[in-house]
Amino acid sequence: MTQQDPEDQQDQQDALAYGGRYTRSLIQVFGAPQRVLVRGEGCRVWDDQGREYLDLLGGIAVNALGHAHPDLVAALSKQAVSLAHVSNFFATPAQIELAETLLRLAQAPEGSGVFFTNSGTESNEAAFKMARRTGRPRVLALEQAFHGRTMGALALTHKEAYRAPFEPLPGGVEFLAPGDIPALEAALAPGDVAALFLEPIQGEAGVQPLGEEYLRAARRLTREHGTLLVLDEVQTGVGRTGEWFRHQAIPDLQPDVMTLAKGLGGGFPIGAVIAFGEPAATLLEAGQHGTTFGGNPLGAATALAVLGTIEEDGLLARTRARGAQIEAGITALAAEDERVEGVRGAGLLQGIALAAPIAPQVVTAALEAGFIVNAANPRTIRLAPPLIISAEEIDTFLAALPALLDRAEELSAQKES
Ligand SMILES: *Cc1c(COP(=O)(O)O)cnc(C)c1O
Repeated sequence: MTQQDPEDQQDQQDALAYGGRYTRSLIQVFGAPQRVLVRGEGCRVWDDQGREYLDLLGGIAVNALGHAHPDLVAALSKQAVSLAHVSNFFATPAQIELAETLLRLAQAPEGSGVFFTNSGTESNEAAFKMARRTGRPRVLALEQAFHGRTMGALALTHKEAYRAPFEPLPGGVEFLAPGDIPALEAALAPGDVAALFLEPIQGEAGVQPLGEEYLRAARRLTREHGTLLVLDEVQTGVGRTGEWFRHQAIPDLQPDVMTLAKGLGGGFPIGAVIAFGEPAATLLEAGQHGTTFGGNPLGAATALAVLGTIEEDGLLARTRARGAQIEAGITALAAEDERVEGVRGAGLLQGIALAAPIAPQVVTAALEAGFIVNAANPRTIRLAPPLIISAEEIDTFLAALPALLDRAEELSAQKES
């Protein structure tokens, strides 16, 4: 055996460090990880090199209470030392209390019900199965919609690159242009549509709000034609936009079915489907659906802590204020910096619209400077920070943004040359 040069040895060690180990051990569906994170506290996280970041993405609208929040840690720990899992042959107090709390916050009428899941896509699967139970063959969703990656939710998801490799998908789904009320009216008119799936703000599409007029029309027309209105609030729900659920910003917009996940467990995987009123809540009959983990006491106790802390700490009002701060800051920047076109969204789900397709380079520049943001599409920076973020933390990012854009332009020029 030849003696290895110490430099080669160092290179090998680097390749075997987390990055190399990641690519050797995980299926490569997510691309190269941006960093390896080891610790978090509040709105800050640290990587394996000891570098600190302000987390303006919150695990994609998940870490509602930030990282290592004492209320969440206490609730999870307390449940873990008592009862972690029991199967759905049994009920637990945490699960019942969580269902009651969600129905109260959603202002659901008598006869409503909750089904617990473990993720957003599973919540939409359950809603899709409810839709099938109406006996009607057609289902409507929107262009640019994102509802998840399992086969049913994927059938409702518009993006060709996500769908095409997995066809055939469950059938009967048609896509409509967002905002086109006459098209919606025409699609519903035959009276054979089981459900219309909508995201009040299309998050993955680049934080695109649907608009009040369209949402109102959707509610009115689905009611007229006996079609279920399913609101996918997986990203917009649980306080993210400054209401408990985004549809509550618009009077009388209550859906027939609402799907939740992301922020509900504040990092613990839990989702929920809320069926409003008895007709919707009785679509799935005994034995027609199920889950091993859904509503498990660890998740339920954690979600109760998330909802309780949002309520007790007044985080809805805070979220609205912080959202207004971001909107004002970006609007002011857009007035003097032609690289920024404006801002879309609500509360702490905001998309910064860029004039040039340099969002991926902004993400890189932000990481270099100690900020975590996301490129929802090439011209949109998505912010979805913890709801506990402070005004000072937001100001730090707003102040840094022009320099991040400078650096992103530099990186983009390097890529081209
Ligand atoms: C993230 C998301 C989903 C999918 O949730 P998963 O937990 O990743 O399965 C579905 N719908 C919307 C609107 C989302 O943002």
